Amino acid sequence: MEPEVVVVGAGPAGMTTRAGVSCLVLSQDIGGQAAWGPEIQNYLGCRLISGVELINKFYEHLSTFPAVKQEFAQVTRVDQEGLPDKEGITMAQAEKKLTIFTLPTCPDCIQAKRWLTAKGISFEERSVDNPQHLEELRTKYHRMAVPTIVVDGQVLVGFTNNRAKLMELLGVSD
Ligand SMILES: Cc1cc2nc3c(=O)[nH]c(=O)nc-3n(C[C@H](O)[C@H](O)[C@H](O)COP(=O)(O)OP(=O)(O)OC[C@H]3O[C@@H](n4cnc5c(N)ncnc54)[C@H](O)[C@@H]3O)c2cc1C
Repeated sequence: MEPEVVVVGAGPAGMTTRAGVSCLVLSQDIGGQAAWGPEIQNYLGCRLISGVELINKFYEHLSTFPAVKQEFAQVTRVDQEGLPDKEGITMAQAEKKLTIFTLPTCPDCIQAKRWLTAKGISFEERSVDNPQHLEELRTKYHRMAVPTIVVDGQVLVGFTNNRAKLMELLGVSD
């Protein structure tokens, strides 16, 4: 069934929920500019929050609306007759979003990053020498070790001991 509304962009504006309306949000990322801000100040309802935390709140809120679907895509053209043309990132790839919590001095972290790069797998690195990343690792994932690798909502602690599991999750072979 076609959605009643198609929204392009998943920044704060695009992620504004529409209760009772079936909606498709097409975006090349989640969070837009707000995700880049180490500190977001005076956002409605929040005096001070990191961009990542704010976007996680948006995302969790949006996830409670089953009629709102999200798809990762770059919209290249909008046609009044139908849905926008999209290309680039597919849902499957986007769902494999990988975040790795690291420390510069950790050999297993270095190995993990080398391996991911060699496999052409993009990842978001959060070095825990940044107190905000450390706090996120502690409070959101309840871990205090590096590397912690988060893929598809699954949390793996350590690279070498989890290599086989990681390959399975990412659908790659050695
Ligand atoms: C470093 C930084 C710090 C900030 N600090 C604050 C602050 O402290 N307080 C505050 O209130 N505001 C702050 N802002 C501003 C705030 O982030 C913006 O006002 C807000 O993000 C605007 O939201 P938006 O949804 O309108 O647009 P955007 O955030 O720009 O989102 C646009 C979305 O559309 C997507 N998109 C664009 N083109 C396409 C396409 N062709 N196909 C698919 N998707 C597409 C983008 O990927 C993105 O997801 C800050 C911004 C930055 C960069």
